[in-house]
Amino acid sequence: KITDMKKKAPYMWEIDKSFRSDMNVPARIFATREMLDDVLKDRSIEQLVNVATLRGIQSAAIVMPDVHEGYGFPIGGVAATLWPSGVISPGGIGYDINCGVRLVKSQLELSDIKSRIKLLGAAIYTSIPSGVGKGGDILLSEAKLDEVLRHGAQKMVQKGYGFEADIDHTESRGCLENADPAMVSHQAKKRGEDQLGTMGAGNHFVEVGVVEEIYDEECANAYGLFENQITVLIHTGSRGLGHQVATDYIKIMMGKMRDYGIVVPDRELACAPFDSPEGQKYFAAMAAAANFAWANRQAIMHGVRLAWRDIFGGKLEDLELLYDVAHNIAKIETHIIDGKLQKVIVHRKGATRAFGPGNPEVPKDYRDVGQPVIIPGSMGTSSFVLAGANRSMELSFGSSCHGAGRQMSRSEAKRRVDATSIINELEHRGIHVQAGSLKGIAEEAPQAYKDVESVVNVVHEAGIAKKVAKLRPLMVIKG
Ligand code: 5GP
Ligand code: MN
Ligand code: MN
Repeated sequence: KITDMKKKAPYMWEIDKSFRSDMNVPARIFATREMLDDVLKDRSIEQLVNVATLRGIQSAAIVMPDVHEGYGFPIGGVAATLWPSGVISPGGIGYDINCGVRLVKSQLELSDIKSRIKLLGAAIYTSIPSGVGKGGDILLSEAKLDEVLRHGAQKMVQKGYGFEADIDHTESRGCLENADPAMVSHQAKKRGEDQLGTMGAGNHFVEVGVVEEIYDEECANAYGLFENQITVLIHTGSRGLGHQVATDYIKIMMGKMRDYGIVVPDRELACAPFDSPEGQKYFAAMAAAANFAWANRQAIMHGVRLAWRDIFGGKLEDLELLYDVAHNIAKIETHIIDGKLQKVIVHRKGATRAFGPGNPEVPKDYRDVGQPVIIPGSMGTSSFVLAGANRSMELSFGSSCHGAGRQMSRSEAKRRVDATSIINELEHRGIHVQAGSLKGIAEEAPQAYKDVESVVNVVHEAGIAKKVAKLRPLMVIKG
């Protein structure tokens, strides 16, 4: 039975690979015992077992405590396949390629901004276009777009949308080198040409918050976080461009799987050997879309800085980027598997890289404490900053959770939640919501998500990332 899970380590459970004859590795779940019951309510564990059948998958198919059902792969999942002959699967990365979060910190405290917080919200709202398919002011010719696809956030900084220090504090320095704009379809580029610097709808947001609690002084010092500090959290991805890249390559791979003798238990696991032409083209297109997402978050942060300066004065640099993490991406990394160093293709879908102290991929000024791991909660609860810890290398291919995770589907939330009363209730609790549409608010209501505190406690107790600080929302700007 799928409920036969064995506890393998604190907060870590496994379904043996003998559970189904097509599994190549066990399925591993990070959760409390109580969470396991909830997790079994949707198809996510069945999906995880399906992932365990992929060609070349190593160690285990893994999900984090924020797991929920996704396209083919569960969200909150990590799958590492053998480089270069294992498969790469767009569903293991997600439609919003390089969706991610960046956390910006100020030197102001709550008492400094309290009376002007709504002004700030309005200024941010006007400086950042939001909504489904909504375009912005930065219209790119195809040649310029290609430059963004090649160089990501670095291109934006070159153009004046930020500072070199921003790049030092972005995962992969805001650019995957193997990006090839020629592998991105015309249609995908068309969808992206006016979407740079735009947020999109629904789950994407810009949120002004305050540091409510520090759990780890040493890490907080390294990250420059202190109690009562005002922060800005930015969550968005590669917009229509990335979505189209995923759509294009899922279709291509569905048509090609048979030629490679690949059989999958669910069509949505469409994949191709990494070293096949389709695998290589997708990886180059995915990298281009990832670069677009980094450029997008860089442009949005620039918009936030302009709005901030309008309201509070000072310099643009007064808002510093703490860190930017991707949570929908595939990367080539080296991990120890069965005692040997091995290159693998790590798919993270709704999972955050969580490299620990000493890792050369961690920015120099954070290297002694591990990389920042940024975990948004919901518009009515807290969000968290964690630090990557070395157990993540042994247990989860250097990964942690990416959020609270949904516990209600969008349609269920729309049925059960009244948006106006949510907005009123939040306002009453000192959280101001600035939103384009009421419909989006119902889907994103705090009760649509799991309890972020318990999710974060699981990764903390499992030793894959440790709690550093808690942020409380003050002003949420939604698409
Ligand atoms: P996803 O990338 O899976 O759409 O979302 C990541 C996480 O963001 C969700 O699991 C949820 O916990 C969190 N989240 C969604 N909306 C908001 C919001 O308005 N504010 C904050 N702080 N977090 C949110
Ligand atoms: Mn996301
Ligand atoms: Mn997204």
